[in-house]
Amino acid sequence: MGATIIDGKRIADAVRAELRPRIAGLRARGVTPGLAAVIVGDDPASVLYVKMKSQACEEMGLHSVTLRLPADAPEAGLLAEVRGLNADPGVHGILVQQPLPSQISTMRAVSSVSVDKDVDCFHPENVGLVLIGAPRFAPATPAGVIELLVRSGNDPGGKHVVILGRSNIVGRPLAALLMQKAAGANATVTVCHVKTRDLAQHTRRADILVAATGRPQLVTADMIKPGAVVVDVGVHRTDGGLVGDVAFDEVKEVAGMITPVPGGVGPMTTAMLLLNTVTAAEKLSEQR
Ligand code: NAP
Repeated sequence: MGATIIDGKRIADAVRAELRPRIAGLRARGVTPGLAAVIVGDDPASVLYVKMKSQACEEMGLHSVTLRLPADAPEAGLLAEVRGLNADPGVHGILVQQPLPSQISTMRAVSSVSVDKDVDCFHPENVGLVLIGAPRFAPATPAGVIELLVRSGNDPGGKHVVILGRSNIVGRPLAALLMQKAAGANATVTVCHVKTRDLAQHTRRADILVAATGRPQLVTADMIKPGAVVVDVGVHRTDGGLVGDVAFDEVKEVAGMITPVPGGVGPMTTAMLLLNTVTAAEKLSEQR
């Protein structure tokens, strides 16, 4: 029997629906939540992601700003743009799209965003707050994975979650969130990476397996414990369409539940970004 598909689009729609009254409440007080994205260069995937985020803002009645800088823009130029957005009262969330070109330090770029507008949660202070269990914002993709699990009846509490990948965007913050002593967390977490020996030995012990390696279809059926929940964060454009880090057709025959690509984690990332922007707008408007 095949796995049950976890419908990320439907769950993301539910998260968005819960946001509508909060947005209406802000607008009634004269505040339109605003999200600004800064993109350097014209990497097609980055351009597409930023466009999707801006479309989502428009659908939800949020103000959206996209600043596009040329690929050879100096770091000082980017930092000046971010300073302008930090000071703009109509902007409550700021994201600097990664990857950045080599002349710009990713560390300095993410550190330049106001901690109160850092809806991607990449500022070192906000990363630290996540680690100690007092998040100002939960990073969008990891928070989306947890929301997807909880709302599909797979609370990670007490489960063994194996994460493939330790990037600052997905694997590392997801591990930090899942190990918290908190609702929707309390998991026992294993994090694997390129130096992990015998990857399958670890993945076969997972109650919940999260794949975030950036390697198309790395995870195969023989790596799955029968009945496990498989969450595929990966996105890869191929001639046959989008695929993830999981060989979906074979893994769904062994797993109990599985997220598709597209329609799994992707819509959740966008929904959580909107949630963080609304939360930022609520907090910032209370301070004024
Ligand atoms: P990344 O920065 O390239 O990191 C990949 C991680 O996977 C690294 O930690 C790497 O280990 C590990 N890894 C690579 N090959 C491996 C292997 N064979 N076995 C075990 N671990 C391996 O990528 P990322 O930013 O985390 O993104 C991962 C994937 O998620 C990409 O496909 C990306 O497009 C996708 N993504 C999707 C969303 C969404 O909203 N759906 C959001 C963000 C990212 P080392 O650290 O040892 O090199």
